[in-house]
Amino acid sequence: MKKYSAFAVAREALRDHIGWERAWQSPEPRSKYDVIIIGAGGHGLATAYYLGKNYGIKNVAILEKGWLGGGNTGRNTTIIRSNYLQDPSAAIYEKARSLYENLSQDLNYNIMFSPRGVMMLAQTQHEIRGYKRTAHANALQGVSTEFISPQKVKKLCPIINIEGPRYPVLGALWQPRGGTARHDAVAWGYARACSDMGMHIIQQCEVTGVNTMNGKAVGVETTKGTIVCEKIGIVVAGHSGVLADMAGFRLPIESVALQALVSEPIKPCMDVVVMANTVHGYMSQSDKGEMVIGGGADGYNNYSQRGSFHHVEETVRALVETFPIISRLKMLRWWGGIVDMTGDRSPIISKTPVKNIFMNCGWGTGGFKAIPGSGWAMAELIAKGEPGPLAEDFRVTRFREGQFIDESVAAGVAH
Ligand SMILES: Cc1cc2nc3c(=O)[nH]c(=O)nc-3n(C[C@H](O)[C@H](O)[C@H](O)COP(=O)(O)OP(=O)(O)OC[C@H]3O[C@@H](n4cnc5c(N)ncnc54)[C@H](O)[C@@H]3O)c2cc1C
Repeated sequence: MKKYSAFAVAREALRDHIGWERAWQSPEPRSKYDVIIIGAGGHGLATAYYLGKNYGIKNVAILEKGWLGGGNTGRNTTIIRSNYLQDPSAAIYEKARSLYENLSQDLNYNIMFSPRGVMMLAQTQHEIRGYKRTAHANALQGVSTEFISPQKVKKLCPIINIEGPRYPVLGALWQPRGGTARHDAVAWGYARACSDMGMHIIQQCEVTGVNTMNGKAVGVETTKGTIVCEKIGIVVAGHSGVLADMAGFRLPIESVALQALVSEPIKPCMDVVVMANTVHGYMSQSDKGEMVIGGGADGYNNYSQRGSFHHVEETVRALVETFPIISRLKMLRWWGGIVDMTGDRSPIISKTPVKNIFMNCGWGTGGFKAIPGSGWAMAELIAKGEPGPLAEDFRVTRFREGQFIDESVAAGVAH
């Protein structure tokens, strides 16, 4: 595949852009692969990429029922941070964040990583204590964060009203190298690199059954026929329970729609990401100028990918006190994605009761930031058959053993 470069842009500009190749191929499925990854979201594609890059396993198919990146990967608000409380979480999210730093170069695809800084506002005494505790934990984990004053919050983000009558800003947990990336580009960059390694990305190919023999994976049934394989990685976010059911086991996962919205574009006014967990909203400004606003999760389990008026109203009403300037903005679009929630709000990267079937799920409301680290850890699990240091604590059996990785404060519905 031809390399993207400034030289290539100049060359194509001189010949009416006729020389660009397709970013990835759309092959028909073969009858057999070494590894099948189900789900071409960011996590599935990253898993395939690191299988090829780190372990030389390239006879891989990535099966996607819709279009690649069309699930939560293309629906999220793209916040990247690693300021989690528990050590296993900080380790995998920081691995992911550090891979994001050079991902554009690694993939030769501009994923528009923007480490503009993320702040989580403390608007109650309880949050001050919680975030100071996290800052201390992060110092021990080697994650660079600090607890900052309201004055510094105002300096970093002048459009914030720090003197709100109900929810004054009392400080913030600040991660200067957190930020955002372009979500589609992350999926597209990994897809292009996987295709370049000879892997098959097969879209419009729904897995409808998982075939096992003597407790071991042997292949899948799909809308494009039966495919045989040695190993299966199930990476389908909100549909994890459905796929686990096909393979004959149950997961401690609930699926629920999480919503987000964007405003009309306005001039640049905010160059950090702000999360206000008490009032339950968060906001950043996209390169196009839209204010990207995260809303809440639906209060009931569902598989809907739609937004709803009452979430728009609730989220904007909550944010207006902290960001008075948004009171006169028109909201342009809103939508939902199906997130997969575990009881301790931490993911599952694990072997399963079926030999050679591996699960990667439970990223819930916050898995975009984890894509490179998750793919890295899942590839190791599939290649070696055993989890490496990044994944071992995220085994599914932790729910039976009582070894929870409680991130309900760090994750919640905050991303
Ligand atoms: C509104 C919203 C805002 C969010 N904001 C953030 C944020 O700011 N920061 C953050 O870190 N995270 C955020 N998240 C969470 C994040 O988007 C997800 O954790 C992450 O994208 C999950 O990626 P994935 O690859 O596991 O899943 P997905 O991208 O959903 O990919 C799974 C794929 O599996 C496919 N699939 C399902 N069933 C089958 C089948 N039977 N056969 C074949 N394919 C199948 C689906 O079509 C889908 O494409 C947000 C999520 C939402 C919905």
